[in-house]
Amino acid sequence: MILGHAHPDVMAAVQDAASRGFSFGTPSENEVLLAEEIVSRVEPVEQVRLVSSGTEATMSAVRLARGFTGRSKVVKFAGCYHGHVDALLAHAGSGVATFALPDSAGVPTSAAGETIVLPYNDVEALETAFAEHGSEIACLITEASPGNMGVVPPEEGFTEALRRVTAAHGALLISDEVMTGFRCSRSGWYGLEGPYSGGAPDLFTFGKVMGGGFPAAAFGGRADIMSHLAPLGPVYQAGTLSGNPVATAAGLATLRGCTPEVYTRLDEVSRTIADAASAALSAEGVPHLVQWAGSMFSVFFTSEGSRPAQTGVVRDYDDARAQDLPAFGAFFHSMLDSGVHLPPSAFEAWFVGASHDDEAVGRVLDALPAAARAASAS
Ligand code: PMP
Repeated sequence: MILGHAHPDVMAAVQDAASRGFSFGTPSENEVLLAEEIVSRVEPVEQVRLVSSGTEATMSAVRLARGFTGRSKVVKFAGCYHGHVDALLAHAGSGVATFALPDSAGVPTSAAGETIVLPYNDVEALETAFAEHGSEIACLITEASPGNMGVVPPEEGFTEALRRVTAAHGALLISDEVMTGFRCSRSGWYGLEGPYSGGAPDLFTFGKVMGGGFPAAAFGGRADIMSHLAPLGPVYQAGTLSGNPVATAAGLATLRGCTPEVYTRLDEVSRTIADAASAALSAEGVPHLVQWAGSMFSVFFTSEGSRPAQTGVVRDYDDARAQDLPAFGAFFHSMLDSGVHLPPSAFEAWFVGASHDDEAVGRVLDALPAAARAASAS
């Protein structure tokens, strides 16, 4: 909710759209306008198709990549979440480039078995996996800057390495911007890190911010790839509620409300809160690290003696898992008791919104010292 809950402009757009009908089962004007807004913001996205959730976006992008390349294997990174798509609900088997195991009951081994899970920020593991399986790999999907293991941004050159290695093996690169899209900047993570010298990702996925709190998401990218989608091409994809007129009205009003001033405010507020959280934890001697992706950040409760405690950086999922989870739990519950609802997991990113005014920020800051004491005592 980048503009805050029930923002008046979004509310007005939703009411206006709803007064004219909830669902038409056919493209509507706002769907086209929202698609145009996305294409105008993210330069490599030439065409876009709307769906209703981030899960649908990544699922469809992977199907499109498989249909386009005629290959079946998918590479993902441990700690990256792309929704509850069978093939992407997988964790690494033993060894770096072995095939994955299902993460959830109900996902057959065969569905996860076409997935290769690699450690994030590890160029050597990437090169090894592609050297072994390159000709069978349809795509690599990555969070543009991961936020689902806490915020673990790509190290300098890592995204470019993804582009170089996938291109060298004829695999597509899918940048999942469901979380970062239109949040990290008006053009998402791509707006902060791109353009890349080796070329842009082939496909992007979006969700969350672009739906303004309603079910709207999208995938898009190179027009020559998108043209493989039905009805023009052989890759089937459709959805009764895709491009829903009320959801697209909310998304469009939200994106239009994301002015440069909004992004400046998000940057300021997130710095203020993160600095204060860090200062409060330091004052109580609680080991921690703060990591950033634009205005998205997270606080890692680094356990003493762990690799991140020594290197000063959380670079992959193994590092993120080395956290002191009871310390986070004590911190979280103390904040909640003070009326501040943080993301409820040590592996989630902290987001701020434009409606976090000085009074709200002040309440967060006031709650921090007690929470840091609770973490220290845990
Ligand atoms: N990709 C990323 C990066 C996400 O963070 C999420 C949701 N947390 C998804 C995909 C799935 O989106 P949804 O929950 O809308 O299906």
